[in-house]
Amino acid sequence: MASVAIDGPAGAGKSTIAKLVAKKLGAIYVDTGAMYRAIAIYFLRNQLNPENPDEVMQAVDQLEVQITYEGDAQQVWLNGENVTPYLRTEEVGNMASKSSAKQPVRDKLLQLQRDMAVNQTVVMDGRDIGTNVLPNAEVKIYLTASSAERARRRYKELTEKGESCDLAQIEADIIKRDEQDMNREIAPLKQAEDAYYLDSSELTIEEVVEEILARCESIR
Ligand code: C5P
Repeated sequence: MASVAIDGPAGAGKSTIAKLVAKKLGAIYVDTGAMYRAIAIYFLRNQLNPENPDEVMQAVDQLEVQITYEGDAQQVWLNGENVTPYLRTEEVGNMASKSSAKQPVRDKLLQLQRDMAVNQTVVMDGRDIGTNVLPNAEVKIYLTASSAERARRRYKELTEKGESCDLAQIEADIIKRDEQDMNREIAPLKQAEDAYYLDSSELTIEEVVEEILARCESIR
């Protein structure tokens, strides 16, 4: 089955774009960041320190992540509880960036992610999809935007949900998260050699979707 891999930094619009591309292709949208966020919830709730290897092992031994779909909306389950409503906070995102840098955490999710692409056409977004999870994906996109633009988008997303937040703080968090994701030893965020680089700072959502669909002709 064909795969489209969309990687890029926090707030580049990957999930919005990937959902729309998946719909056009009749494919399943797989949000791998949500899986790392579910694991981050486990760390936060149990007050585990991602810098302590014993606590990381304890977490991966005791947690189970499962994915289901309600229509085309991905649901993430953590030890039998649907944690989807709690995933998209800054606290969870910041913890995900720390815990996802640990090898046992990545090992926990790699097979689950690969298995999802075996029997169905997927549009999968994350940080290491084109480089590591699905290196043979038919289409690879590296989607990015300036940190100021990404901060503005995240601010809008959070305020629309009624969360109070501070734009400067969000941009600082985004820059810190980029730094962690790009410089970690294991599966760092980087553009795959065969990925198409797409900067969405000055583009509309529709324009980005069209750019990507134009590269999906071979799998349509
Ligand atoms: O994309 P999202 O912001 O939901 O991802 C949360 C965090 O999960 C990222 O900052 C990154 O550290 C981690 N992640 C990852 N590999 C992926 C997807 C997300 O390390 N494939």
